[in-house]
Amino acid sequence: MSSMAPDNITGGLDIEAIRADFPILQQKVHGCRLAYLDNAASSQRPHSVIEAVSHYYEHDHANVHRGVHSLSHRATDAYEGAREKVRKFINASAASEIVFTGGTTESINLVAASLGQDIGPDDEILISHMEHHSNIVPWKLLCERTGATLRVAPINKRGELILEEMLAMLNPRTRIVALAHVSNALGTVNPVSKVIEAAHELDIPVLLDGAQAAPHAAVDVQKLGCEFYAFSGHKMCGPTGIGVLYGRQDVLERLPPWQGGGEMILSVSFEDTVYNKLPYKFEAGTPHIAGAIGLGAAIDYLDSIGMDRIAAYEAQLRDYAGQRLSEIDGLRIIGEAESKVGVHSFVIDGIHPHDLGTVLDHKGVAIRTGHHCAMPVMDFFCVAGTARASLAFYNSAEDIDQLIDALGVATEMFA
Ligand code: PLP
Repeated sequence: MSSMAPDNITGGLDIEAIRADFPILQQKVHGCRLAYLDNAASSQRPHSVIEAVSHYYEHDHANVHRGVHSLSHRATDAYEGAREKVRKFINASAASEIVFTGGTTESINLVAASLGQDIGPDDEILISHMEHHSNIVPWKLLCERTGATLRVAPINKRGELILEEMLAMLNPRTRIVALAHVSNALGTVNPVSKVIEAAHELDIPVLLDGAQAAPHAAVDVQKLGCEFYAFSGHKMCGPTGIGVLYGRQDVLERLPPWQGGGEMILSVSFEDTVYNKLPYKFEAGTPHIAGAIGLGAAIDYLDSIGMDRIAAYEAQLRDYAGQRLSEIDGLRIIGEAESKVGVHSFVIDGIHPHDLGTVLDHKGVAIRTGHHCAMPVMDFFCVAGTARASLAFYNSAEDIDQLIDALGVATEMFA
């Protein structure tokens, strides 16, 4: 890991100008400059996203797809315009492959519920040991309902997937592989292309949980070749309560709906129901219109910087943070994968992560502490929880230095 003076860490971005776009970053917390390092839990929004949402509510709100009046047309255009922005962002081949959901959690539950209608006791679901609870519990529920078996691919002490063992678990009974593109607790970037290639040799569909990947690097679902890709708006500068399920057209067409209601039908009688075309078959009820519009604005913002530049800058910041954290006595990084994003989970001898989080908060540093909704990962590393600093492109080297100074205060306090 190379040592780098903070002045050199910009990745060619004007970080100060970017930070100025985020009103929330301008405040003080406990009298200190805010260093927001909890981006894996939720990111912040630039002014343009806040403005897009309030403009919609102030000028254009009406229900979508149903009205003949001007406001309904405007709301529909903006909502469908956002879908097209998402399509382009992940390079899906058609907007009909983009289903708006409440977030990654709902996207995964949708697939589990829908696919689950055709799963039985002889079937297997394959996940990994590093999944977020959102990519464990829906599958466990499905297995409880159907008698299917949940199989879990192991990880090693660096927090990497043991690929050969995962591939050896694929077999004709496997009905789906559901895998994190990037782990939220460890930062590990998984070798998803290899998993997809091997799964496809047996005609097994793959769902990627992209909650921690989509905000940090360009995603191309056609290049990946996965059947499903799930992610959340709020982790990529968009509103909460909106997310995406990408599903390949032919696969979505074969799946039955998972929720019934308005919008997802073409005609209903008491005898017969004809379902709507994609993606509406999976969008029952009035959707989160403002959320989708805000997500579209977030994508515009990310695109204006460029996902490749964001990835390159965050990699520099990740290395700088890793190097500075290694200077702290008694600090152990949990998750040292060869390939990882800017997520540093750690424990410090003799200090409970929650105590650490509280001391840091008083120094204006926001990090996450606890199990990060990944209890099996905590069990694997024999810790109750970790402290986690997670980066975004609007973080600066100054944020990292503030974190390190605050950790210095905490270690002295608990010495
Ligand atoms: N998957 C991963 C890897 C996550 O990090 C998260 C949230 O932290 C989720 C799924 C769930 O996302 P949401 O709560 O936005 O549905």
